[in-house]
Amino acid sequence: MRGVIGLDFGTTNTLCAWMDGDNPVIVPNDRGERTTPSVVAVSDSGELLVGSSARNQALADPGSALFGVKRLLGKDRTADFGGAPRPTEDAAAAIISKVKRDAERFLGFEVDSAVVTVPARFSDPQRRAVRAAVGKAGLRAARIMNEPSAAALARAWSSVRDEQDRLVLVYDFGGGTFDATVLRARGGSCFVLSSEGDDALGGIDIDAAMYRDVAGRFKSEFGIDADADPYLSRLLVDLCEKAKIELSTRDETVIAVPFLRGPDGIVHPSVKFGRDRFERIAAPFVDRSLALVRRVLGSAGVGPSDVGALVLSGGSSRIPLARRLLQEALGREADPRVNPEEIVALGAAVEAARIEGRLQGL
Ligand code: ADP
Ligand code: MG
Repeated sequence: MRGVIGLDFGTTNTLCAWMDGDNPVIVPNDRGERTTPSVVAVSDSGELLVGSSARNQALADPGSALFGVKRLLGKDRTADFGGAPRPTEDAAAAIISKVKRDAERFLGFEVDSAVVTVPARFSDPQRRAVRAAVGKAGLRAARIMNEPSAAALARAWSSVRDEQDRLVLVYDFGGGTFDATVLRARGGSCFVLSSEGDDALGGIDIDAAMYRDVAGRFKSEFGIDADADPYLSRLLVDLCEKAKIELSTRDETVIAVPFLRGPDGIVHPSVKFGRDRFERIAAPFVDRSLALVRRVLGSAGVGPSDVGALVLSGGSSRIPLARRLLQEALGREADPRVNPEEIVALGAAVEAARIEGRLQGL
């Protein structure tokens, strides 16, 4: 079989990867981005937009866009956006089909199948809905693979084909969901021993908590009521996310929106956001993730010291507070050579190459 890609269809971002010789590599989209936001939106002229264009459209018209469709698959048949109820499977298919087209343009050959990843805890109806969406996008789902297994496989592949038998803990903190999984991994085989998670714990929840803090200060210091203005609140949530990402590598940042009309005329609200303030806001969310880590170790019947490899996955696992507390809880550091946003897609690409029969000895 030829033309099999790895596809990490995420709640927040979708990634495509491909095995180039011996190396799994990310396939960029038509904008050169390594991730495509999992967002669809209907433009003013009725055109269906996907990815960054849809994200921009959401700033211009918050009701026109659908975020996080993956959370709805297998649960809700339709979702309201762009002024009408629309099938969630079609929305998911639009995202996958764009990623397929972009991949074909980049790779220069036709892509007919994909290894598609889903959370280990996904139910059968959820898996079926993902498979259906992939089909509607014109792809065959060669395999539906568990995300933590893909992460563990990518790790084993990059760690000089790690052939040791070890317990791997995958800590996957994404945009909308959190998953902690314990696997037994050896070379190319992984067995999920236990998986725990929370479908309502992700980066967007931290953004929302930051927004409440910032909106409060906009009100008390500048007389601006962001809650009363859906455009301003959407913009502020976006700026909070950017500030959060800044704060993973810096100690302080600023959130500013110039030229707003306050009670006494035009104001230029600007508030500082320091790492301390951020960590106070993020702590309850990080604590919830760590409680799930303890729970998954318990249900796998192992202790923190049994964990032989810690794999970080998901953009929110870059938050320094999460890394610090996780390291304290497990007494070990995460594999440093891992890009948490990309590891699941890369693992899916390794699996895709195996299905194509291009890898020996795995
Ligand atoms: P998903 O699996 O849900 O598609 P991702 O793994 O792409 O999600 O993670 C997206 C989340 O990661 C977003 O909430 C984003 O704000 C967050 N994120 C990305 N980079 C960073 C960073 N450097 N620090 C903190 N959070 C980040
Ligand atoms: Mg993910």
